[in-house]
Amino acid sequence: MDKHDETYEILMVKALDGMLLPEEEEVWEAHLARCPECRQEFESFARTRDVMDEFRVRMLSEREQRLQSKPMPTSNRLAVVLVVLGVLLMWGFSAWHVMVAPEVPWPLRLGHGLVLLGMTVGLLVVSRDRWRTLKTDPYAEVDR
Ligand SMILES: [Zn+2]
Repeated sequence: MDKHDETYEILMVKALDGMLLPEEEEVWEAHLARCPECRQEFESFARTRDVMDEFRVRMLSEREQRLQSKPMPTSNRLAVVLVVLGVLLMWGFSAWHVMVAPEVPWPLRLGHGLVLLGMTVGLLVVSRDRWRTLKTDPYAEVDR
């Protein structure tokens, strides 16, 4: 390619993207016909592009299948909600009890506070990550 000016490199890139104007296509085809170097390079790029396209399509369809595969059934949701409510009630009550009861020694009080703080931070982080994953779909712009 080094004996060419960059016109042909630009034409090759456009050809690979299918963006050649009709008059450019004429120039490009004429050049390909008499330049085995460019022909070879172009075919090699086109093969790579085809492999990448195939790979992309396969990844997307696998992803789609994963997304469509069985949403959580209502009974499971109910179980999760019940467990979360129960845990929150127990935490809340024992936290209140530990903080208020005068006979509880301070290390237990402090430990309890730290565990609650850790659980709250963990819950917030998980919810935030989950929210981000739901909101940002990196393939939303890709034509399927
Ligand atoms: Zn050439």
